[in-house]
Amino acid sequence: MTSREAARFFDRFGKVAATAVLAGVACAGCSGGPGTAGPQSAMLRQISENELRDFESGLTAIGIRDAGSAGEVAARDFIATTLGANPGIEITEPPFDYVLWRDGGLDMSLDGPEGGAVPGGSLAFSTATPPEGITAQMVYVGTGTQPEYAMHSRRELEGKIHLVDTSEDANRALQYLNAQVFGAVGFIEMKSWKGEHGEPLVELGAVQPFATIPAVSVDQDTGARLKRNASQRLTIHSTNSTAPAQSVNVIGVLPGRPGEDDYVTVSAHLDSLATSLGAIDDGSGIVGLLEIAKVLASSYDLERSVHFAFFSAEEQNLQGSFQYVIGQNSKDIREHCRLMVEIDVAGIAGGESIIAAEPAEVGQQGLDDMTSIDFTKKTGSPASISDSLDPGSDVLWYIALGVPTYYETKSPFIYYHTPYDTPDRMDFNSLRYEVAVDAQMIADAAGATPRTR
Ligand SMILES: [Zn+2]
Repeated sequence: MTSREAARFFDRFGKVAATAVLAGVACAGCSGGPGTAGPQSAMLRQISENELRDFESGLTAIGIRDAGSAGEVAARDFIATTLGANPGIEITEPPFDYVLWRDGGLDMSLDGPEGGAVPGGSLAFSTATPPEGITAQMVYVGTGTQPEYAMHSRRELEGKIHLVDTSEDANRALQYLNAQVFGAVGFIEMKSWKGEHGEPLVELGAVQPFATIPAVSVDQDTGARLKRNASQRLTIHSTNSTAPAQSVNVIGVLPGRPGEDDYVTVSAHLDSLATSLGAIDDGSGIVGLLEIAKVLASSYDLERSVHFAFFSAEEQNLQGSFQYVIGQNSKDIREHCRLMVEIDVAGIAGGESIIAAEPAEVGQQGLDDMTSIDFTKKTGSPASISDSLDPGSDVLWYIALGVPTYYETKSPFIYYHTPYDTPDRMDFNSLRYEVAVDAQMIADAAGATPRTR
C-alpha cells in the first residue's frame, strides 16, 4: 500500500475519543436499574477474586513466557491443563509458522560533552544495523505526527535519527511510518513518564513488521539527554535477527447445543515480551479466560459454543492470531463467529475504563452491563466508549473480517511493556469487575442459561 493509504489505515485505528460516559447513561439492558439483582449481578457473584489470584500465581510462577522460549511452552501447558480440568471443554493446539524476532543486543554511544554510553532497548522487529552501526545527528519531532513533521524542512529530517515522544494519544506504528517516510535513519521513542517511584521506564513493544530502520526505546531522562544533545552524533549498533519458527495456539471449545454452528470467541494472548513478566499484559486476560471457562462450564447451558482462544506470538506482531484467524479459519469465523471479546490488559489499578467495540450497540451493551453492577462505584474507574478501535492486539483480525468485537481496557497503564508489569501491581477487584462484564457479554451472545440442578 502507498504511504498515504497506510497512514489512513493507521489513522482509522487512532487513539480514543470518549463519546459516551458511564455516569448518567441510562441502563437500557437491565430491568431494575444499577445494583439490582439482575443476571449481571448473578454473573459477578460467580466470578471469584480468589480464583483469579490463584490462576495468576500459577501463571506468573512460570516466569517470562516470550515466544520461542521454554516459558512459552510451560504457559501453554499450564493453560491447557487448567482449561482441560473443566468438564466438557475440548482442547486443540493448532500449530502455525511465524517469523520470530530476536533481540541480539543494543549499544548506543553519544558524542560531545554529555557523551558516552546511552541505555535503551530495541523495539521488537527493529532491524539490525550494519556491522559498524549507524551514526547520525538527531532531530526532535515531538509526537511525530504529520503536522509536526510539516514544521521541519527535508534537510532537517533526512539522514537523521528521529527523537519521538510517547504520548497517550500517539500510535507508534504511525509514528514509525512517518519517521521512515520523512527520511529517518533511526527511530528513538522517548518515554514521556516515569514510574510512581521515579523508576526509569523503557517500553519495548513491537514496531511494524515492515521495518526499514532501527527502532529504539529509551527512558524519560535518557530521552531528555538525547534531546539536549540532538546536534551531536549518536551511534546505534544492534544485532537483531529474525528466523522461521513454529508455535501453537491453545483453543478450548465449550460446546453449545448440538447442530448449532454459530459460536462466540473470547481471547487472550499467552506470550509475553522477553523483558517483562506480563502479569497484566496479558496475564490478566489469561486468568480472566480461565475463570470465565470455569463459571460457564460449571453453571450454564449454552445455545452456542464458546471458543476460548489463547493466542501466541502476539508480542511478535500478532502472528499467532493472524495465522489462526486469517490463515486457517477466516471463512468459518466470518460466517459463524457472533461476537469476539478480547481481554488484553485488564486489572490495572486506577485510571479510566475504555470500551472499544463494533458495532456501537455492542459497546453500549458493555456499558449497560457495567452500570448494572455499579462498576464505577465499585472500582473507582469511570467508563466510556471510544469511537475507534485499538489495532494493537489480536482483535484486529476479527475487526478485519467484520465480526462484532468488544474490547475493554483501563488507561493509562504506565508500566506497559516494562519489567514492572508484575502481579503486585494488579488490582484484582477491578479485574473481577472487568471480567464479569466480559463474561456477561459472552454469556448473552452464547445464549447461556443458568443450569438447573
Ligand atoms: Zn497484550
